Amino acid sequence: MISEQRFWNPVLETLDHEKIRKLQFEKFKKIFVWAYERSRFHRGLYEKAGIKPADIQSFEDIRRIPTVEKSMMRGIQRKDPFPYGDALCVPLEEVSEFRQTSGTTGQPVYQADTWQDWEWWAECWAYILWAQGYRPNDRVFIPFGYNVFVAFWAGHYAAEKIGAEVVPGGVLDTQARILKIQELKCTAMMATPTYVLGMADAAKSMGIDPRSLGISKITCAGEPGASIPSTKKRMEEAWNAKVYDHAGATEIGAWCFECKTQSGGLHINEAFFLVEIQDIDTGEYIVEPGRRGKIIITALDRQAQPCIRFDSKDIAEWSPGKCPCGRTFRLINGGVVGRADDITKVKGVLLAPSAIEEVVRSIDGLSDEFEVIVDKAGDIDLITLKVEILKNREGERKQIEAKLKDQLRLKTNLGYNIEFHDYRSLTRYEVKAKRFKDLRKK
Ligand SMILES: [Zn+2]
Repeated sequence: MISEQRFWNPVLETLDHEKIRKLQFEKFKKIFVWAYERSRFHRGLYEKAGIKPADIQSFEDIRRIPTVEKSMMRGIQRKDPFPYGDALCVPLEEVSEFRQTSGTTGQPVYQADTWQDWEWWAECWAYILWAQGYRPNDRVFIPFGYNVFVAFWAGHYAAEKIGAEVVPGGVLDTQARILKIQELKCTAMMATPTYVLGMADAAKSMGIDPRSLGISKITCAGEPGASIPSTKKRMEEAWNAKVYDHAGATEIGAWCFECKTQSGGLHINEAFFLVEIQDIDTGEYIVEPGRRGKIIITALDRQAQPCIRFDSKDIAEWSPGKCPCGRTFRLINGGVVGRADDITKVKGVLLAPSAIEEVVRSIDGLSDEFEVIVDKAGDIDLITLKVEILKNREGERKQIEAKLKDQLRLKTNLGYNIEFHDYRSLTRYEVKAKRFKDLRKK
């Protein structure tokens, strides 16, 4: 029976590393030729760099190919063929899906997919869901506003593909979604970490214990929370469920996932993606574990609007170990730890917002919400951290503040001005939270 199968694709997921590399290289050459011959955007980029398909003879040659950034994709938007511009590699009539990026970092980028691409999206997600224990007997609740952002759209199709039952929680509000999960006895859910915590909070205020709802697994995306230990713990305890991380993006696809073993890393789906990690300062390619860099990624099978050596700005590092689950797909240690855009220098120290999240969520007595504001007082950088204290813990404010300051100093090497706010007074987010504001940039 398929349900007893350990891997969604037992051949590719256990292929030895050398064979995977060979497969990746062959696929890379193919998609490179595809883009070179069909897209003016790609051809122009490669001709300018003096690279032809025949020059790609080894992985080292791949590194000579220019990377593509989101800003370059923005530059061709709304041009011919409208609205995608000349990175499009298929006739417009073959495009069957429109999506756009969430716009967190600026003007959204439009993304075209053919039906074949869309099936590929669902296949990539099927690997994720199967690895996280989704099976045909699951009833999966998907509480997001089905819209122009790709979000969990492909997760929806993949859940259907593996034979599970999908309940689309589209335009329902949070309370109605909770009641639907309860009524239908749903067993699994997909949401951003912010919303997973927000829903648990909302259920409690309705007098419903989220632990009683029967959700046994939750797949997260959109934010790094499910790979931040203290946030993951809060989610798992709130729902009495296993919480799994996955990373993906509109322009890339769903490229890595945590498996049921939860070994502290995320598997890259190496059958479909080629991942390179590059040192941000030196541009050197990192092959050894333990050194962080930004992820350069190629979607090896995506055709309408190819993703070739895309500079994702995601920060990650190779994991030293293999996962006991048996998959040979390599792991990135602790998931995507942040974005190059978000990592900012404060008082000369590099600060990643995820480090602050790890501390806030590890402290008992604080709610799940927080905000960080970096500003200048004269010449000096000032960080204000706004947190909410739980109603029944008001009396411990002094102790909590001391603990918070200590832990923040330890984990980030910086001092903070702490502001306590009333429980439920900070902004609640449904999709991606905007907790970090750098006012120095204005
Ligand atoms: Zn694994």
